[in-house]
Amino acid sequence: MAALKVLLSREDIAQKVAEIGAKITRDFAGESIVLIGVLKGATIFLSDLARHIELDASFDFIAVSSYGNRPSPDQELKAGWDSTGEVRLAKDVDQSVKDKIIILVEDILDTGLTLTYLKQLFLSRQPKELRIATLLDKPSRRKLALEADYVGFTIPDEFVVGYGLDYAERYRNLPDVCIIPRD
Ligand code: 5GP
Repeated sequence: MAALKVLLSREDIAQKVAEIGAKITRDFAGESIVLIGVLKGATIFLSDLARHIELDASFDFIAVSSYGNRPSPDQELKAGWDSTGEVRLAKDVDQSVKDKIIILVEDILDTGLTLTYLKQLFLSRQPKELRIATLLDKPSRRKLALEADYVGFTIPDEFVVGYGLDYAERYRNLPDVCIIPRD
């Protein structure tokens, strides 16, 4: 495999995450919030973001999976992972979100299938407010019209790893977001 190329440095990420945290702090001054991270990719973003939010906050985590077979890592790298378009919840939150302010925290908004599903699911549970925070946004790949409320970086259609994002479960621990060249 070709060498990884740094797309976003740890310094750029740290600055942006601090800005998003400050914005959330302003937007919900005086309120309590629940940060809901999408496993596993959002864990590092959530843990850094949370430390820049000066509000009463709790954490929860969910996991999703797609129906059908996940393609091989090689196919996923070349063509992305949106073959079936059906998403299901593999792990739910541990608490009721009714009447609470919840922020879904995701690593990357790509086709929009995952977050559209999650948004509908959580809206049906009648939160007081639902917001979406994503570190990365690849709008060129969108299949469902969805915008996040807090976006770290808009990136081109490249396969990226690091800062929580994996390739076949590897590279999540890289401090920078890096591109895996497709050829
Ligand atoms: P969506 O449902 O918006 O198409 O995709 C969301 C999920 O696809 C992300 O949570 C992530 O798991 C995966 N994904 C999309 N693009 C990338 C990428 O460039 N790198 C990695 N590692 N995963 C990605």
